[in-house]
Amino acid sequence: MADGIVHIDGAFVPADEARISIFDLGFLRGDAVYDTVSVWKGMFFRLDDHIERFMRSCAGMRLACPHEPEAIKRILASCVSRAGLEDSYVQMIVTRGRFNTVGKRDVRRCENKFIGLALPYIWIISPEKQTEGIDLAIVENRRTPTESIDPTVKNFNWMDLQRGLFQALDRDADHAVLLTTGGVVAEGPGFNLFWIKRGRLMTPKGNVLEGITRRTVADIATEMGIAVEFGDFPADALRGADEAFLSSTAGGIMPVTRIDGKPLGNGAPGILTGRIREAYWSKREAGWLGTPVASLLGRQAAA
Ligand code: PLP
Repeated sequence: MADGIVHIDGAFVPADEARISIFDLGFLRGDAVYDTVSVWKGMFFRLDDHIERFMRSCAGMRLACPHEPEAIKRILASCVSRAGLEDSYVQMIVTRGRFNTVGKRDVRRCENKFIGLALPYIWIISPEKQTEGIDLAIVENRRTPTESIDPTVKNFNWMDLQRGLFQALDRDADHAVLLTTGGVVAEGPGFNLFWIKRGRLMTPKGNVLEGITRRTVADIATEMGIAVEFGDFPADALRGADEAFLSSTAGGIMPVTRIDGKPLGNGAPGILTGRIREAYWSKREAGWLGTPVASLLGRQAAA
């Protein structure tokens, strides 16, 4: 089962066989929240932090997760174990479910649905491309305003990010960065952004998903004695940086070497970026903030 396992409607099924109703409002309205956690060499990374964020996302969209955190952990571990994966991209999702009232669209009365899944680890940027560095485009499409959809709630309303990705690819870039409607740097499709100027690390303070990898970067930087500044920055702050990188559960710390078609800094992956990236992976491999998948597999999970 190397292609992954999905837990849906209470059963574990091969990834290709998982189905939801087209009447689920998760599909029809994008009314769903999710979280993605990774497993590397048999260990979940910051699993409690991901589950805590997931529960906050559910509450933020008035979705009731049908499982408690401990049960979610067992289900996810069971997906990974049944899929036979050492390195995995693991997701938990709650969708609104279907309307079950006649003559009234009572979103409060839908039966919310949980889905868990484990797939082979996904890199949003391949390791080969990471060695060379990423070409980013600061795109025209703006991030959906925070007042409309709270970006700290991890949700599937991705049309702003998708449109941005089209615009970046049409400009032959690898990925997109979106600004807010007010013109400050926000984030990209599936990642937070960091850059370095004269030894200081900068990242947008708001209008973004509070990434778990972003938090991890801040922890590592603090340990290394690198100052981190969370702020509202214009696009030119990023364009004028010495180094930059993306952070995401799906790929870790990924160096940027070009922005809007021009080399960033000296055009090679940055030295501080490399040190942070190296620390991220070596600390993870040493078990830092890790939970072994096997430790969650009680008799219940294996059943
Ligand atoms: N920003 C957005 C919009 C995302 O979708 C993601 C992850 O999917 C991130 C940032 C990075 O968050 P994390 O480090 O928790 O994976």
